[in-house]
Amino acid sequence: MATPPGNTRTPLDWCPCVSTASDRPAVPAWLAAPDDANALVPIVWPEGAERDQDGVLRVGGLAADDLAARFGTPLYVLDEDGVRARAREVLAAFRDAASRHGGTARVYYAGKAFLSSEVVRWVSAEGLGVDVASGGELAVALAAGADPARLGLHGNNKLLPEIAQAVGAGVGSIVVDSRVEIERVAEAAAAAGRVQTVLVRVNSGVHAETHDFLATAHEDQKFGFAMTDAAAAVTRIRELPSLRFAGLHCHIGSQIFGTAGFAESAARVVELHADLLAGGEVPLLNLGGGFGIAYTAADDPTPIAHLAEGIVAAVARECASRGIPLPELAFEPGRAVVGRAGITLYRVGTVKPVRVSDDLERLYVSVDGGMSDNARPALYGADYSARIASRRSDAAAALARVVGRHCESGDIVVDAEYLPGDIEPGDLLAVAATGAYCFSLASNYNYVPRPPVVAVAGGEARLIVRGETVDDLLSRDVGIVRPGTSEESA
Ligand SMILES: *Cc1c(COP(=O)(O)O)cnc(C)c1O
Repeated sequence: MATPPGNTRTPLDWCPCVSTASDRPAVPAWLAAPDDANALVPIVWPEGAERDQDGVLRVGGLAADDLAARFGTPLYVLDEDGVRARAREVLAAFRDAASRHGGTARVYYAGKAFLSSEVVRWVSAEGLGVDVASGGELAVALAAGADPARLGLHGNNKLLPEIAQAVGAGVGSIVVDSRVEIERVAEAAAAAGRVQTVLVRVNSGVHAETHDFLATAHEDQKFGFAMTDAAAAVTRIRELPSLRFAGLHCHIGSQIFGTAGFAESAARVVELHADLLAGGEVPLLNLGGGFGIAYTAADDPTPIAHLAEGIVAAVARECASRGIPLPELAFEPGRAVVGRAGITLYRVGTVKPVRVSDDLERLYVSVDGGMSDNARPALYGADYSARIASRRSDAAAALARVVGRHCESGDIVVDAEYLPGDIEPGDLLAVAATGAYCFSLASNYNYVPRPPVVAVAGGEARLIVRGETVDDLLSRDVGIVRPGTSEESA
């Protein structure tokens, strides 16, 4: 199938590694100077985020300056009510859409977006299952008390101990990704005396990102079975008494706006699903996640209810045209559940005007974090929005770039934003929509300890993940003798 009309991107354009900030225009075309550089664009900031009479940003009923004083900076702040509300909204959207078409749907939260025991408890209480992609993520979900039957395990190279751990725990489904993995899961299940439910991940050839999608016959990537190989994989699973085949799984990308890519992928996968019915039952179809959110005022994400209806309608249409029943549907949102509910608070350390060209000056605003707590700008060229959190300012808006403190010129937190021109050292800066893929992608680059996570709700703040200390980092270096350890007394 050809790419849709208007899609003029080449495959290289899809590679995040080429869209570094240096390839971009000095001021991105989408960025408009705001009338008020204090304004909080509603879809970007957590629900209910506001400025109090003093101009201080409040999230979950808590003032940013109080949070910073109590927990330090950088600080991840997660709005519990926001996570829970989005979890409910996504579940209702897919359930309602499925029910309008005579079917049912379940929703798994994709834990890799942000995983901690508290978040597992929140989304579980709201009726979502949880997807994990490693033994570590599985351990967090189990330690949080998640029902193993409502967990799914993903990954293109699950380690043997991870497979054994998942089978032993009674994980509801394992999404198999290769021929050899079918045998590995079957062996682990046989050894445990269990029958393990599995799904088969297929590569539909549709890869979507933000506004466009690319559809090819063969996609050059590591995940899943080619569409042409999937039927043989399912035949093999059906031969193995320790496995139960539940259906196909497909995930086409992340931060997707619009339903077209999902609909195209669903059409391809339903065709295969229909063929598989000839060999036995196929109760489930899992269409993955990837639902986009707003990072800047220029983003206009498709409302989740609209996406859900578009996707489910496309599947229902394909099923009807083939005369097959609508299977139970499953979805795996990550970003759409946690992304908007998180902000990061930083302390401004230096402000440096840099002349970019004869008629353009940019303020480089250095904060006390950076690519170690938010890798997405460096990794994907991702855009973010920022505001001074500790005060309101009447100064004219100035073009700014928020940068971190790491030894990398690509260490950018917000590539382009208008901030009050009087921003100065000591100001608190808030970056919006950092709930997904920031904490989970954090590193210790430059031996910087990873920040704590605080949950806010109803005017209460609770530490849910403590920050790392330099001692935590030193403790891994076995060549360092620390006071009070056995190495010292030895
Ligand atoms: C990453 C991932 C998701 C979640 O993606 P979001 O863009 O966060 O919704 C869902 N399913 C699979 C298989 C994934 O790899």
